[in-house]
Amino acid sequence: MKKMLIAGNWKMNTTPKEAKVLAQKILYGLESLGKTHSKVLLCPPYTNLFAVKEVINNSEIELGGQNCFYELQGAYTGEISPLMLLELGCSYVIIGHSERRTYFVETDDVINKKVSSAVVAGLKVILCIGETLEQRKNNDTFAILEYQLNQDLHLLEIKDIKNVIIAYEPVWAIGTGISASVEQIAEAHDWIREFFRNKYGEIANEMIILYGGSLSDNNCFEILNIKNVNGGLIGGASLDPTKFLNIIKTAEDLLSQ
Ligand code: PEP
Repeated sequence: MKKMLIAGNWKMNTTPKEAKVLAQKILYGLESLGKTHSKVLLCPPYTNLFAVKEVINNSEIELGGQNCFYELQGAYTGEISPLMLLELGCSYVIIGHSERRTYFVETDDVINKKVSSAVVAGLKVILCIGETLEQRKNNDTFAILEYQLNQDLHLLEIKDIKNVIIAYEPVWAIGTGISASVEQIAEAHDWIREFFRNKYGEIANEMIILYGGSLSDNNCFEILNIKNVNGGLIGGASLDPTKFLNIIKTAEDLLSQ
């Protein structure tokens, strides 16, 4: 059966109280679906991790951070470490989201250190990669993906690749309401799978490759149905429990086909 991960990236949205309510709605909706074959992951802001964990504690919903630093402790005011995420019950962390690359000037060098530190500490990493609109127009998409994958995974030991998930997120599709087309997504995901096959061999077949960028309940069927798409990293639509649950239901329908 195809692997499917439906991950909600809440970004800088929800207070702890609001996060609890949102998590509860998602949990109740999931419970009414019964046993799911897809994995569901919630990535609230750091300040809400504890509150959300309390809600999802005895469920199959997983918890993730939206970022973390590469050092495990020390004088790094404002940062948080993989160990802190782990102790709060996180099993995943998103690294290299385009908003962090753009607004917080995270370089591939920093992302590389973060990926390897988080994985060594025991987290699964969702590494975000993707081209800007200008890069796509210049036919640089695959050169950019190759550059990011080579740089961002440089320090990772081969044995740890099983703990890395790739999120292909074209920058121009994030938060714009305009997702990439089925053809563009299929082409990019085939390319990413092939990249890993060439580099790491057959383990590439087991890797989870997510799509992200204006994925919602109105386009999830055709996107999740693409051969090398193993789920989605969802921003805006993950804040709406009805839409998020519809996406999970669609994933379930596709898995049971
Ligand atoms: C994201 O935050 O990774 C994302 C894909 O956002 P959105 O779904 O809102 O485009």
